[in-house]
Amino acid sequence: MINYLYIHIPFCIKKCVYCDFYSIPLKPRIAEDYTDALCNEIKLRTLSSTKWPLAELRTVYIGGGTPTILNEKDISKILDTVRNQYSVRPEAEITIEANPETITLEKAEALLKAGINRISIGVQSFIDRELSILGRSHNADDAVKAVKDTRDAGFKNISIDLIYGIPSFKFQISDFKSQIRNWEYSLQKTLELNPEHLSAYELTPEKNTPLYEDIKSGRLIMPDEDVIAEMYYSAIDTLTRDGYNHYEISNFAKPEYECVHNLNYWNRGEYLGIGSGAHSFFNDKRSCNIKDVSRYVEIANKGEIPLTEETGITGDEALKETIFLGLRKTDGIDISMLPYGKRPAIKKAADELASHGLVELDNNIFRLTRKGLLLSNEVIVKVLLYIEESRLS
Ligand code: SF4
Repeated sequence: MINYLYIHIPFCIKKCVYCDFYSIPLKPRIAEDYTDALCNEIKLRTLSSTKWPLAELRTVYIGGGTPTILNEKDISKILDTVRNQYSVRPEAEITIEANPETITLEKAEALLKAGINRISIGVQSFIDRELSILGRSHNADDAVKAVKDTRDAGFKNISIDLIYGIPSFKFQISDFKSQIRNWEYSLQKTLELNPEHLSAYELTPEKNTPLYEDIKSGRLIMPDEDVIAEMYYSAIDTLTRDGYNHYEISNFAKPEYECVHNLNYWNRGEYLGIGSGAHSFFNDKRSCNIKDVSRYVEIANKGEIPLTEETGITGDEALKETIFLGLRKTDGIDISMLPYGKRPAIKKAADELASHGLVELDNNIFRLTRKGLLLSNEVIVKVLLYIEESRLS
């Protein structure tokens, strides 16, 4: 049974220069059509409930894009349809992602009234120069105001997203101490706003983005690797000292405020995704909806579920997913829960990586160390390679 629902809103005010997600500008007519298509898909999935058996929902997560670009009426309509079609636990975590320029006190009050009880605000930095390098459409004052407005409206569960490792213009290149000071300033400003949850992501320049091209051409210069490492460690130390639990590579929460929806992903739990380009995972199959918004709307409004592909994930592929998702959590994974025959390969990987101080294996709990968290991508790939080799040998 599925207890976790994701709803995708693929619209943004404008494209940030580092973003490689599919999102498009919102035009008035599209918002209405898309909302109707989402509501249709929600109903269609209920009709085929033997294929998509939804139990009482523990979470609903409205992500994007910038979901708060939709007006209050459309957001309420989507959530009302969810409640009419599925049963939602009274204590369910209902999240919406937001960007500062789309939040006002009135909007935040309306979101709360629509049933949303958690808001995740994409602040990214409290330094205007960095926000402009990222191509964001808000400044630091807008971000502070948006967080205060959501608090004043009555939100008791606010999350703030930050980005570290932001490049500088070649002609403005600052020394590593001021780069770290800037990051610590953003962390301090965040703490002053006292959010219940915080995500700190390292900026990765993705190919086919304007940011990548600017770095390639030398117009923008990335901070050195050791500066980025210091930023990451400074986030861990500052936030844990302030009472936040570092529960996933990039995520921190006050006690009891860990994101239930995302923990389900890292635990490789099942979920249903609604909306263009949304992914679902159920019955050992990962599936994806049509990405193109117009096609999605056309098909959902014709009464068909707009699925494009379904891929079965079993055996070693399932095990690899359990490992690369589970190792993201600082609690790690319990290897006694993994297939018996695969444990020797995982133990071998653990011994080898532990000798470099990257992981620890204690009482069957396999987790990344502080050094391993910093190098998580490389470490996780190494563990997966051990599993692959054990399959071939
Ligand atoms: S607001 Fe978020 S999804 Fe939209 S373009 Fe910027 S980073 Fe991408």
